[in-house]
Amino acid sequence: MTSDERGELAADLLERARYFSTLTDLGLPLVEAGIATDVGPAGRSGTSTSTSTGTSTNTNTSTNERTGTEAPARYSTRKVPVASPIERSGSGETLEAIRADIGDCQRCALAAGRKTIVFGQGNPKARLMFVGEAPGADEDEQGLAFVGKAGQLLTKIIEAIGMKREDVFIANVLKCRPPGNRNPEPEEIIQCQPFLERQIDSIHPEVLVGLGKFGAHWLLKTAEPITRLRGRLGAYKGIKVMPTYHPAYLLRNPGAKKEVWEDMKVVRDLLAR
Ligand code: SF4
Repeated sequence: MTSDERGELAADLLERARYFSTLTDLGLPLVEAGIATDVGPAGRSGTSTSTSTGTSTNTNTSTNERTGTEAPARYSTRKVPVASPIERSGSGETLEAIRADIGDCQRCALAAGRKTIVFGQGNPKARLMFVGEAPGADEDEQGLAFVGKAGQLLTKIIEAIGMKREDVFIANVLKCRPPGNRNPEPEEIIQCQPFLERQIDSIHPEVLVGLGKFGAHWLLKTAEPITRLRGRLGAYKGIKVMPTYHPAYLLRNPGAKKEVWEDMKVVRDLLAR
């Protein structure tokens, strides 16, 4: 085995250990500084990223989501560049214009029961975009996508591939919460579809991740079970699509984390090119 191959193996083992430790308790990574520091630049190396909301985040520290306290980054990882190495141009339509067009949307029956429209949030020039199903109670309350327990898990998944939540864009197939978190109805998906299409056209990411059945089915225009779809790269308008399990499913079925890790490693490697 060459030294390069040994380095790759060490990096892979380190990331695997970190991934499973972070997803086990949703807490801070357990890998201590100094271990395998030759695998690449620090994953939280102090870059600043602007988001669609105009905020700027410094990542020299990480925040424990359970305690709200900050701690220094404690591990190294291969880092995915935030800026794209290739020229990408979206539709030219801004996310603000799309949000303005949604307005106080009444196009489907979900308008009657929602508190807020959850447009989605993140980097308007994201290289990586996640598409989930629909807002839940926490999201409906706060007007932000993936902010509940499943959202915290998604943050850990993003960090496990060396990115930050602010680097990516996160949206759902539906912008309004279905009552009781029931599955989306076909008519609701049809009515809401143009907004997500325009968001993807605007952001024009390099990779899309379809989270769970509805995210994956919407992107890939298929009804194949997610158990068969996950891990197989597809395409949406020429953009690579990785279908994988929804973080809410992982909360109920922790054993499926290893499959999501395999899928996310493929995503990471696509973005590292
Ligand atoms: S789910 Fe979409 S189409 Fe239905 S009311 Fe909300 S924004 Fe409009």
